[in-house]
Amino acid sequence: MTPPAEKPIGFLDLARQQDEIGPNLRARVDAVMKHCRFVMGPEVSELEERLAAYAGAKACVGVSSGTDAIQIVLMAEGVGAGDAVFLPAFTYTATAEVPLVLGATPVFVDVDPHTFQIDPASLRARIAHVRAQGKLRPRAIIGVDLFGQPAPWPELRAIAAEQDMYLMADCAQSFGASLSGRKLGREAAATTLSFFPSKPLGAYGDAGAILTDDPERAELYRSLRSHGEGKTRYEVLRTGMNARLDTLQAAVLLAKMDTFEADLRRRCEIARAYDAGIAARVVPPARVPDSESAWAIYSVLTRDAQDRTALQEQMKAHDVASAVYYPMPLHLQPAYRPHHDGVALPVSEDLSRRILALPLHPQLTHHDVGRVVAAVCGHAGG
Ligand SMILES: *Cc1c(COP(=O)(O)O)cnc(C)c1O
Repeated sequence: MTPPAEKPIGFLDLARQQDEIGPNLRARVDAVMKHCRFVMGPEVSELEERLAAYAGAKACVGVSSGTDAIQIVLMAEGVGAGDAVFLPAFTYTATAEVPLVLGATPVFVDVDPHTFQIDPASLRARIAHVRAQGKLRPRAIIGVDLFGQPAPWPELRAIAAEQDMYLMADCAQSFGASLSGRKLGREAAATTLSFFPSKPLGAYGDAGAILTDDPERAELYRSLRSHGEGKTRYEVLRTGMNARLDTLQAAVLLAKMDTFEADLRRRCEIARAYDAGIAARVVPPARVPDSESAWAIYSVLTRDAQDRTALQEQMKAHDVASAVYYPMPLHLQPAYRPHHDGVALPVSEDLSRRILALPLHPQLTHHDVGRVVAAVCGHAGG
């Protein structure tokens, strides 16, 4: 008799997570439906306080998305035309999009071939190149904690200080991670978070936040997220945005915060199990020293593009999902190529051809993890 077919393993399982947190989630959402303060209801400030305390930051400002969070931070610094904003070529498009929306120019920096994080040597070279050309003013650096591991923050701070540039942290994938025993969120003057549903702490729609230790900047971010308002709603001090965090999303996130630490521990366990299980077939992700990842994404390296296609097909045949983050580095994207100076960024280009992400989320069971390993290694079992 053939055993019953097993369910495919998806890249995420938000439905299973919803079952786990059900009663708490429903109580939180019902409370909002009852008080009806859908915009800037009490859950927003409750969540802000909870996120600030979690990260050890003095202030948190809830906003509508991780992308809007980056935009508000750069608007607050007056970043605009003539400014060069340095960021890794190997990241999500949002990081590069914001400087352009503000009239500034993104300058793409290569990454480390092992940790996939921004490469300080490339950053120095790119800043020197822009200074030598003399057309743009090197103004800001966006450090991105890619896949949940920390960017090289001590080096980024040293470069920003020595070059007199503004440094911010795009922590969209890394909230919950730590460096030198300290939670991320205070590595730069401002840290932006995303609660897009697939992030380690995900809402049920778009949501984001900004962390800072500077109370004046926090006030400015609050004004910018709400049309540039002053002390009253009808006093307009500056050009702002409509970029507030929804009360319902704050309620969902409050329910999810209750299980977040346990979720992170489970993510770490699964990452360790993958490391041990798959090393004979692919290269497991290198760890940033003295850190703990939030494991937003667990990406392995295949030998070359052909090997990646073969592995994708093999995993599919085992009913296990996989995904490519990112299939094209940003400096080669049609939207950004015209803004790029043509310099090759060989590591980002190579990674985009060889990288492959395995499913990693807290809802995977021990059995599921075995099935993912078997799918990668190409043997039966699980
Ligand atoms: C998800 C993500 C963002 C954007 O967040 P949204 O909430 O989707 O706007 C920005 N940067 C990085 C690195 C991300 O992964």
